[in-house]
Amino acid sequence: MKIYDIAVIGAGPAGCMAAIQGAQQGKNVILLEKNDQIGYKLSLTANRRCNLTNTATMDVFLEKFGRRGSFYRDAFSKFSNQDLMNFFKTHDLELTEEQEGRIFPITEKARSVVEVLEKVLNEEKVKLISNFRLKHLNKISHVFKLASTKGELVNAYKVIIATGGVTYGFTGSTGDGLTIAKFLGHNITDLKPGGVPLLVREEWIHQLKGVTLENVGLTIRHSGKKIDLPRGNLLLTHFGVSGPIILDMSHVIVGLMEKHGDLKLYIDFKPEIRKDALGIMLMEDFQEHPKKV
Ligand SMILES: Cc1cc2nc3c(=O)[nH]c(=O)nc-3n(C[C@H](O)[C@H](O)[C@H](O)COP(=O)(O)OP(=O)(O)OC[C@H]3O[C@@H](n4cnc5c(N)ncnc54)[C@H](O)[C@@H]3O)c2cc1C
Repeated sequence: MKIYDIAVIGAGPAGCMAAIQGAQQGKNVILLEKNDQIGYKLSLTANRRCNLTNTATMDVFLEKFGRRGSFYRDAFSKFSNQDLMNFFKTHDLELTEEQEGRIFPITEKARSVVEVLEKVLNEEKVKLISNFRLKHLNKISHVFKLASTKGELVNAYKVIIATGGVTYGFTGSTGDGLTIAKFLGHNITDLKPGGVPLLVREEWIHQLKGVTLENVGLTIRHSGKKIDLPRGNLLLTHFGVSGPIILDMSHVIVGLMEKHGDLKLYIDFKPEIRKDALGIMLMEDFQEHPKKV
């Protein structure tokens, strides 16, 4: 039975890129995907538009990961946001930059991103097996034996687990890789949400669903302490708050909630204007246009 150099489990963006890199280094690569298609979650991202990356500098990227950001320095210096953009441009997918350096495919379709991955996998002769859900793997004298839920078998010298996280399970990311890694003896850290919107109890927020507040200041308060979040755009939704600033900072906020329970979120609609100056401005405005108030 054939022994592949590398078996990659999971054909999301991580698995596809890993398989492509392996093949480009001359390895014989097999990519195993449990869905009948590659990149299903990817095809749904950013309202099916796919916010591919950002033009920010490496330091800004690292900062977004909080205290552990520097862990990613090595990986990002081997493959940066610029490398990613070049990869897609080289494969004939033009990109466009929107507000705050956000990069999208010019087609505005996440499917175009998936199609590039499909094309390059094919060009690099990566063997793709879809409808293959890895159930079990073990290592017998330097060779990994991978078995699917249907009893198919694959052999490989190296295995890359790229089975994604545990959200939007219908896309295939059900956390299988974590169980498999644990079985192989890896430690699995506690799983915590990140990049998530937040629930707010106050109903008036829900009633303002769809409203975006631009460049607001946000402050979290708990047990007499005050934590200022970076300024940014806030989106009010039918259940609470979302938008770039909340998605970016949610891992910090969720961490605080685990320790302190529910938190208070304060919104400063005009953070660039001091409170006393704002009072004077409003008073002047009221005197000039009394009916407007
Ligand atoms: C609604 C939404 C919007 C998003 N928008 C953006 C965005 O605009 N920009 C951005 O950068 N990120 C966005 N993300 C996050 C992005 O989708 C993920 O970071 C990305 O998909 C993770 O890639 P991955 O390859 O690690 O995992 P996944 O994309 O989850 O892929 C894992 C793959 O592994 C397969 N798999 C799982 N278990 C097995 C098994 N046992 N055997 C075989 N295959 C298996 C799964 O079927 C899946 O195809 C968004 C996510 C969501 C949910």
